[in-house]
Amino acid sequence: MPVPSREIEPAATALIDGFGRRINYVRFSVTDRCDFRCVYCMSERMDFLPRARVLTLEELVTLGQAFVELGARRIRITGGEPLVRRNILWLFQELGRLRERGLTELTLTTNGSQLERMAADLKAAGVARINVSLDSLDPERFRRLTRTGDRDAVLRGIRAAQVAGFQRLKLNAVILKGRNDDEVVPLARFAIENGLDISYIEEMPLGVIGDRDRAEAYYSSDAIRADLERVFPLIPTTESTGGPARYYRVSGTDSRIGFISPHSHYFCDECNRVRVSAEGRLLLCLGREHSVDLLHILRAYPGDRERLKQAILAAMALKPRGHDFQMDGRAAIARYMNHTGG
Ligand code: SAM
Ligand code: SF4
Repeated sequence: MPVPSREIEPAATALIDGFGRRINYVRFSVTDRCDFRCVYCMSERMDFLPRARVLTLEELVTLGQAFVELGARRIRITGGEPLVRRNILWLFQELGRLRERGLTELTLTTNGSQLERMAADLKAAGVARINVSLDSLDPERFRRLTRTGDRDAVLRGIRAAQVAGFQRLKLNAVILKGRNDDEVVPLARFAIENGLDISYIEEMPLGVIGDRDRAEAYYSSDAIRADLERVFPLIPTTESTGGPARYYRVSGTDSRIGFISPHSHYFCDECNRVRVSAEGRLLLCLGREHSVDLLHILRAYPGDRERLKQAILAAMALKPRGHDFQMDGRAAIARYMNHTGG
């Protein structure tokens, strides 16, 4: 009797965790370094990893190949700021080739500072979509929130990406009470006027950032939505970009408005992703420490992709059910977002 194909799929070669969630999305933090020092992400003085402890670009390609062979269909490159890493374009070109082997989408999250000079090359390398972080439209405030950033360079970067043919750029805005909560509506208006999507993100307690109490700055997605709904009619949609954001459409526009709400809306049941930190730790959950040291495997057994794949497969059993972010002002997780890859 013929066996239905469903039953002959070898279970041990797909990324399925202990809760039956299929993992088809991986994010690589390709550097912990950055030209900005955003107040929610880094402290003013940061110690960066010694270069020898950061995954090489070749190791990142090997990881990409292993994940795609295991069924990952989407890779997002993040950091730190990916575009400040030397020769990063080569990585995009190599990962872009994996589209011939099952990868459906290579994407990038960037602060936009280098986009003006790199957007066309990223497009040519096969990057499908770009998220650009933008927390303020006011140049002074932008500088205060990023500590070093130049708003105009980011706006030029967004424009360059559009000219290069990136259709649906998405803005990411972390909203902090008392710092930029009055910009919820202006940021949405900017997105709409420029044909962009925008996601609002609740701050997550990663890393000790020093100068302020995160709990005091908490501004919930519900508060953001209420601000928006006073001005724009929001229409709920079931559309997804494959992540935890819940999306709304603004009537009469092409823009989608998303909310990433780790505190106010639990999204872990549908989690489809894992991350690899800049130092090669496979992180099974953004908000927990469960991890496996893939850098060690890559360096102890160079060229042994099967061993690497077995380690990734075995790690699936460690993926926890969900995060455990509390808003009591302490860092829930000691590692910083720039190591982790947001
Ligand atoms: N440097 C790039 C950027 O800023 O887009 C990529 C890395 S950054 C860590 C990725 C995203 O994480 C950004 O959108 C940033 O706003 C967000 N992020 C950083 N720290 C965060 C935190 N503590 N809570 C929530 N989002 C955070
Ligand atoms: Fe750099 Fe991005 Fe972190 Fe800002 S959020 S400090 S741009 S890594």
